[in-house]
Amino acid sequence: MTEPTSPAPILRIEGVAKTFGPVTAVDGVSLDIRENEFFALLGPSGCGKTTLLRMLAGFESPSAGRILLDGNDISPLPPEKRPLNLMFQSYALFPHMTVRQNLSYGLEMERLAKAEIIRRVDETMAMTDLTPFAGRKPDQLSGGQKQRVALARALVKRPKVLLLDEPLGALDKKLREKMQLELKRMQHEAGITFVIVTHDQEEALVMADRMAILRDGRLLQVGAPEEIYERPADRFVANFIGVMNFVEGKVGADGIFEAEGLRLALVDAKPGPATLAVRPENVAVGPPGERLAGTVADIAYHGLDRVLHVQTAAAGTPLQVRVPAGTATWRIGDALSLKIDPAKCRVFSGDTP
Ligand code: ATP
Repeated sequence: MTEPTSPAPILRIEGVAKTFGPVTAVDGVSLDIRENEFFALLGPSGCGKTTLLRMLAGFESPSAGRILLDGNDISPLPPEKRPLNLMFQSYALFPHMTVRQNLSYGLEMERLAKAEIIRRVDETMAMTDLTPFAGRKPDQLSGGQKQRVALARALVKRPKVLLLDEPLGALDKKLREKMQLELKRMQHEAGITFVIVTHDQEEALVMADRMAILRDGRLLQVGAPEEIYERPADRFVANFIGVMNFVEGKVGADGIFEAEGLRLALVDAKPGPATLAVRPENVAVGPPGERLAGTVADIAYHGLDRVLHVQTAAAGTPLQVRVPAGTATWRIGDALSLKIDPAKCRVFSGDTP
């Protein structure tokens, strides 16, 4: 899949592949990343996202293809010569140094003037809310604070692009959610392009301006979170991002999708065998007898709303339907009917993956 060319890609990945012996980890990926973008590489374990990130950083060299930064081929450059910085999953902080010393170290190696080092470290500590911890050592910090030091240490060098490999992987759920928003704010304030690797789709949806979905080393789709959520390119992406119901059936010459107990008029559907895909929030529940008949098989409470699992004749597995909590008091075993919004459905014909 190729991407429409954008005015100023800071990073251009051109037909990049990487093989390790018989394993193809990355399989001909072409992708543009724009300046100041928060870009996420997302996919299941083993899809090649870390390998792609390591090639951007220069720790692996591509078996084929080129990587351009600001239009210049950086493929031959070693990691330390690239204006990119990789933040490691393990924070790799110096345990015997304070926060300030951890941040200053890289700049001292670059032989910057002392006053400049102090200025940049102060500025970066303020941005990452670390000023109160300047004198502490890593073992006197919480997980979230250590994570911020690792980020600050990467930011203080002012790379053009910061590469982050599962940066929030070590944090518990609550802190992770807090840090997702903080990371986005810091990216914005620093004005640096972030490329982040994650296998967590919610994390990518929350943080990314755009994201790429990878599977088996191949690029399946690139787009803004809402584009990918609302118009997934294939069944895999539809299933990987958020919750999706699938109904197998066929589209007639009249454009009507049919499955047992269900007839739905669709626009732009190719006649033939097809899969209808609909999100739980795009199915409405009504009294029995109106539309697709079903029986409540299970109810999951999610605070603000509830998800009904409704068994129908149209699909083998129960369809998930999101209803606001408190609007209706359905019980397991109740008969009801489902109304699917045809404008919010995706239809995958038999020949799409
Ligand atoms: P995870 O989320 O589990 O880290 P990933 O999407 O980042 O997965 P990669 O680590 O890029 O995936 O690995 C992609 C494929 O390449 C896997 O099949 C992996 O086993 C293989 N691979 C990665 N690095 C090497 C290596 N150095 N030698 C051999 N095979 C490798």
